[in-house]
Amino acid sequence: MRFGSYDGRLTLVEGARGLDVATASEGRFGPDPMAVYPVWDEFAAWAKDVAVDGFGLDLARLANPLPSPTQVFAIGVNYRDHIEEAGGTATRFPLVFTKFQTCLAGPYDDVPLPTGRVDWEVELVVVIGRRAERVPQDAAWDYVAGLTVGQDLSERAIQLSGDTPQFSMGKSFPGFGPLGPVVVTPDELADPDDLELGCSVNDTVMQKSRTSELIFPVAELVSYISGITPMLPGDIIFTGTPAGVGAFRSPRVFLRPGDVVTSWVQGIGELRNAATATPTYRPLTEGKAS
Ligand code: ZN
Repeated sequence: MRFGSYDGRLTLVEGARGLDVATASEGRFGPDPMAVYPVWDEFAAWAKDVAVDGFGLDLARLANPLPSPTQVFAIGVNYRDHIEEAGGTATRFPLVFTKFQTCLAGPYDDVPLPTGRVDWEVELVVVIGRRAERVPQDAAWDYVAGLTVGQDLSERAIQLSGDTPQFSMGKSFPGFGPLGPVVVTPDELADPDDLELGCSVNDTVMQKSRTSELIFPVAELVSYISGITPMLPGDIIFTGTPAGVGAFRSPRVFLRPGDVVTSWVQGIGELRNAATATPTYRPLTEGKAS
């Protein structure tokens, strides 16, 4: 099953056809894209047998499928090649932070650049479908409703300011969390633990890897996080990014107004987000004191 938010309404998606869930279910499930997660098992059972024979979709109108998760978890340094390019060492436990909810955005929304140090990070995003508390690894996928594509846009100066990194702040400016274009249930994917993912800026591929390279894969993340803090239906996890971000290139590359970031995960789809300037944006001048 694939589904998204079409004009703000929960919609099943099959190719370029859509089916409005509230209408097709005669109100059994509401139009709010977040409302199905608390009743996920019921919804999944209903949707399994429904023919997606509704209307023709204008795919560009798909909005953020997950506009208001209660909790947003994000994982740092979770691909070995990204740790190597950053000159760091792997953590013994997942490095967890949050992207505050107001940064979440749609698959085709613009990214307003607050500064000249905004970087890209393509990520697989996990959507939780059942309250998860102290879940063992071998049961973890049972708590996953679906997967989607995410961009963990990052303002590197704020992120690295202060005595310890400020991941949650540097990664939570408005527009810094595009998601979508749809949520895909794991049964649609041949191996949900091995998906190619990548990101390009304009025509240049910047990142390309596979989720099988995750140091802490999906089941381990669900088990680890839920062992500390319960995860709620509709919560999401940004699982981390592979090598190829701009900050560790030589010379460094950051987004400029007009750049288009394309982020994809195999079997799910792609995001396209254009960078725009805000009044505080100044291009980074290399070589100056920062
Ligand atoms: Zn990230």
